[in-house]
Amino acid sequence: MRALFCERPGEVLLRELPDPSPGPGEVVVRVAAALTCGTDFKMIRRGHPKIPFPARLGHEFAGTVERAGSGARFREGDRVVPAVSGPCGECPDCAAGEENLCRSAFEQKAWGGFGDLVLLPPRVVDRALRRVPEGLPPRCAALLDPLASVVRGVARARSPRDGKVVVAGSGPIAFLFSVLWRRAGAEVLVAGRRSRQLGLHRRAGAAHAQQRAGVRHLVVPDAAHAGTVPAPGRACDDGGLAGGGIALGAQHGGALSRVSPAGKAA
Ligand SMILES: [Zn+2]
Ligand SMILES: [Zn+2]
Repeated sequence: MRALFCERPGEVLLRELPDPSPGPGEVVVRVAAALTCGTDFKMIRRGHPKIPFPARLGHEFAGTVERAGSGARFREGDRVVPAVSGPCGECPDCAAGEENLCRSAFEQKAWGGFGDLVLLPPRVVDRALRRVPEGLPPRCAALLDPLASVVRGVARARSPRDGKVVVAGSGPIAFLFSVLWRRAGAEVLVAGRRSRQLGLHRRAGAAHAQQRAGVRHLVVPDAAHAGTVPAPGRACDDGGLAGGGIALGAQHGGALSRVSPAGKAA
């Protein structure tokens, strides 16, 4: 089988490997479609804090179970899509339903979609592998992991009282947020930097898609997400949105925070 590796920052190599064989609880998936996530680019440029080099690339993919180990809950021929990591299911974060915060989730991961075959470890098979519904093409199923994060973020943020939502950023995750919020009936303002992406948002129906080069920073008081994240302070002011809620979507599992009229977290 072939697999694309990042050997070190800036160096990508296609390697030949022996076909993997699944141990107990594991499955081997033949990749049918793999998408490019921004993390793939970042990993090639500068590495990833949780993934040591050399690292296999691609973690948004869908395919078909080619071989299943003993005790695995899937069979050969099942069409499947994995989430990116396998949470332990036992730590306090997992017990609280916050599997995205599980500290040991990346000990078992679904990594290597840019290859012919991927061996999925038991925790991924048990907790993070889903069957693909009939009729859904692999290239759509492969979007499950980022889409699920966005669906959860929108669900946790609940509907804004005035029906207005600011999406900070204009990339693919922001696009999903923008589309889902509009489907929920919200008026969406997108504050991003790239004019080509903003054009896509406009064409897809965002009420406003504006260029905001100098985003302010927002203090996040939540202990699990202490620190600062970029916030569309000016967009909040201009759009009359100050005082609303902030859903930290992409990297924070939809954690919630409130924003004061001054654009600071309260
Ligand atoms: Zn990703
Ligand atoms: Zn856990």
